[in-house]
Amino acid sequence: MDCIFCKIANGEIPASKVYEDEYVIAFKDINPVAPVHILVIPKKHYESVLEIDTDGSILNKIFNAVKIIAQQMNLTNEGFRLVTNTGEQAGQTVKHIHFHLIGGRDFQWPPG
Ligand code: C5P
Repeated sequence: MDCIFCKIANGEIPASKVYEDEYVIAFKDINPVAPVHILVIPKKHYESVLEIDTDGSILNKIFNAVKIIAQQMNLTNEGFRLVTNTGEQAGQTVKHIHFHLIGGRDFQWPPG
């Protein structure tokens, strides 16, 4: 399968990694929309939330990583946003589930 995030996860393509464990990898987004913009992904390929295992175990791993990274990046006091776009209308461009962890500035609600 020709998936750019699978290639980042297995080291074929370099990325600016900020976190890695057995199941999860996180790296800086190449086109940041905020002072902190990290993508947190499972190493295993899932296209989106719609494909995630129903037992939720991978989500536990991802959220555990998010918590560690937010602490590392000093985002826990000011806050941060965690976003996963699903499908075309939401603007998902890479078909390997990823969570945008963004922070370091104010955000608007509702998002654009
Ligand atoms: O939610 P969406 O699918 O649009 O997000 C994909 C994200 O992946 C974008 O923010 C884009 O900048 C990022 N990206 C990246 N490195 C790549 C390809 C895409 O950080 N090689």
